[in-house]
Amino acid sequence: MERFDYIICGGGASGLLLSNALLSDKHFNDKKILIIEKDSKTDNDKTFGFWNDKESVLDNIVFKEWEYAEFRDSNSHNSFLLSPYKYKMIKSNEFYLYIGDKISKASNFTYLNTTVNEIDQVKAISDAVGDKLEIILDGGVRRGTHVLKAIAAGAKACSFGRMFLFSLAAGGQAGVERALQNMHNEIQRNMLLMGCKSIKELNRSKIIYRK
Ligand SMILES: Cc1cc2nc3c(=O)[nH]c(=O)nc-3n(C[C@H](O)[C@H](O)[C@H](O)COP(=O)(O)OP(=O)(O)OC[C@H]3O[C@@H](n4cnc5c(N)ncnc54)[C@H](O)[C@@H]3O)c2cc1C
Repeated sequence: MERFDYIICGGGASGLLLSNALLSDKHFNDKKILIIEKDSKTDNDKTFGFWNDKESVLDNIVFKEWEYAEFRDSNSHNSFLLSPYKYKMIKSNEFYLYIGDKISKASNFTYLNTTVNEIDQVKAISDAVGDKLEIILDGGVRRGTHVLKAIAAGAKACSFGRMFLFSLAAGGQAGVERALQNMHNEIQRNMLLMGCKSIKELNRSKIIYRK
């Protein structure tokens, strides 16, 4: 089995920007990096707009940039300079192509056009990396049972992003505290149902797959 030092799941904005940063850092020159992406990434499916007050690694592919902003209504028209910032816009297809081309020329990168089957894949990745890397499952974790499955499959931890944002938007600090309490309760209840006294008892034998 081929082994990798780093596996990047998803070759979208974050995956490709991370790859670009790794490509320009000589520390990673001798590291084997795998990118797994399910789509062909040739479409101009979105644009990326960003503020910038200095040169950006993406300047070569900036499609349009703005130095002024304008506010208009039927009675007034105000225009002002954004300096020292500019607002820059790139097209996603040009972004995918630009970084994809750099990746294809890097001998330590492998780009695999396939789908990661989330929880199942934690198991495969955990087998591939052994104890050399700690796996933190990020993305799509919404319930206590998701955390338990990920840890039983070999992840060290899970991270939550949207769970915090949604609960913050819905209920402020109290909403976030409630979401955390719900997560805690779900983990505790399901561990009780599984007969596990400690997180250390979670292992593959606790996962039963639907036929
Ligand atoms: C129409 C549109 C316009 C936007 N305009 C802007 C803008 O102007 N400015 C701005 O800052 N942001 C904009 N955004 C938001 C921006 O696109 C996202 O914030 C950014 O793409 C998020 O980056 P990401 O890497 O998290 O996700 P993505 O860029 O979506 O990358 C995730 C990648 O993972 C892959 N993937 C997912 N699941 C799997 C799997 N199971 N196996 C393998 N691969 C998988 C996907 O195919 C995808 O390529 C826009 C979004 C849209 C849809």
